[in-house]
Amino acid sequence: MIPFGSAFVVGALPSGLYAALYLKSRGIRVFVSESKEICADARLSASASMLDKAGIPCEFGQNSEATMAEYDVVVVSPGVPPDASILRAARKAGKAVVGETEIASYAGLSVLGVTGSNGKSTTTAMLGEMISRAFPQAVTGGNLGPPVSQLLVEHPQTDVAVLEVSCFQLETIRSFHPRVGVFTNIVPNHLDRYGTMEAYVQTKMRLFENMRPDDYAVLNWDDPTLRRAGDDLVPAVYYFGLVPGTYRGAYVAGDSVLYRDGHTTERLFDRSDVRIPGQHNLVNAMSAALAAYLYGVVPTDIQKALCNFEGLSHRLEYVGSWRNIVFVNDSKATTPESVMTASAAMAGPYVVILGGSSKGISFDRMAQCLAQDTNLVAAVVLGTTGPAIAESIRSSGRTPVVYAGSLEDAVLKGVQLLPSGGTLLLSPACASFDMFRDFEERGDRFKEIVHTLAHQPAT
Ligand code: ADP
Repeated sequence: MIPFGSAFVVGALPSGLYAALYLKSRGIRVFVSESKEICADARLSASASMLDKAGIPCEFGQNSEATMAEYDVVVVSPGVPPDASILRAARKAGKAVVGETEIASYAGLSVLGVTGSNGKSTTTAMLGEMISRAFPQAVTGGNLGPPVSQLLVEHPQTDVAVLEVSCFQLETIRSFHPRVGVFTNIVPNHLDRYGTMEAYVQTKMRLFENMRPDDYAVLNWDDPTLRRAGDDLVPAVYYFGLVPGTYRGAYVAGDSVLYRDGHTTERLFDRSDVRIPGQHNLVNAMSAALAAYLYGVVPTDIQKALCNFEGLSHRLEYVGSWRNIVFVNDSKATTPESVMTASAAMAGPYVVILGGSSKGISFDRMAQCLAQDTNLVAAVVLGTTGPAIAESIRSSGRTPVVYAGSLEDAVLKGVQLLPSGGTLLLSPACASFDMFRDFEERGDRFKEIVHTLAHQPAT
């Protein structure tokens, strides 16, 4: 049931575009308003022609408040800042501002939602593989892409969705209601937007706000904030953890991950079923397996899904090797915490490329962790945050720090610093917006630079 008759959709990139197409297909009168000019982004001209074909009126280069006043609600894409003037005007006019994620509940989808500071995309993708083995009509996306409205337009018959849900998306939910909600972990992130950790945690906890006692919350036992958070939730709470505890849920026992609830114990999978590197990915696999199992997927399907899962691009992604140096693309590491995770997964000498645009998080803890890492040969810093990272690293220990003017320069300097057999790791600890459109463009550029190097004639 869609609780309005008309919608003013803000944003014409995939979330807004497909929200409009989906709502229109359900008989809602829609208008799409995009503040950027069509020429600002190649994807916008494709959006304009799709809207035109669907007969949906739209505007580019402005957000007209007078037009907005003619619609019942404002539907907003997660990329639109909450203080955008059109949203302020909508609130002032008493209009409901709803996020694109709400469309999942209008469509009556059975949702498995994944949130957290780190590991959301990897966990969502793994869980998607597991769920689609038992429910072939299931779809996977959300913040990871494609947005839920696109999934619905492209797969109108689906009734099950595995969705990554970001905190930006959770800010604008109203009735969004997952059957299973997974919270991977919580560390400082997006403090430029939320100001305090409390505000950030509260936003993330909204994943559970509409859940009922017969739904499932899947929480990280090893994370003190999440362990405590389980005490106050309405849905049935299950935990996953590396540390033994008295909880019901998934835990590690030797080479296996087991499920335990009262007197029932079952083997979910073996460590060797997880093909992607690092202990953090074992944890991601545990949370996905637990959520899948609670939803009704049998362990053999969970195991098959894990054995086939090769990881996502830009997360500790092996790019190639050149002159006995291995290149790893971890461009998605946009927080200091993720860099600490990557450093824990490094088995030999490495140089890390750090820096980008700020998310308002201190680099000191990361710098202290890197200072303890005997495998770390040097750090190459670049971008807006380069000087702050260099300062933190220098005051934490003796790790050499080198400045680079561009990503290409960083790669060349990194290669020169490394011994044979070493690894050059791009794991920036920062967002990418000072130099790139997004983390994907940054990671793709890194791969391009490496491939160009590898194809140079030997000298
Ligand atoms: P998200 O979607 O939450 O950003 P991803 O799955 O895309 O998470 O992984 C992003 C980065 O976060 C990875 O490169 C890795 O360094 C780190 N990471 C992934 N899973 C975990 C985890 N369970 N705990 C801590 N860090 C993790």
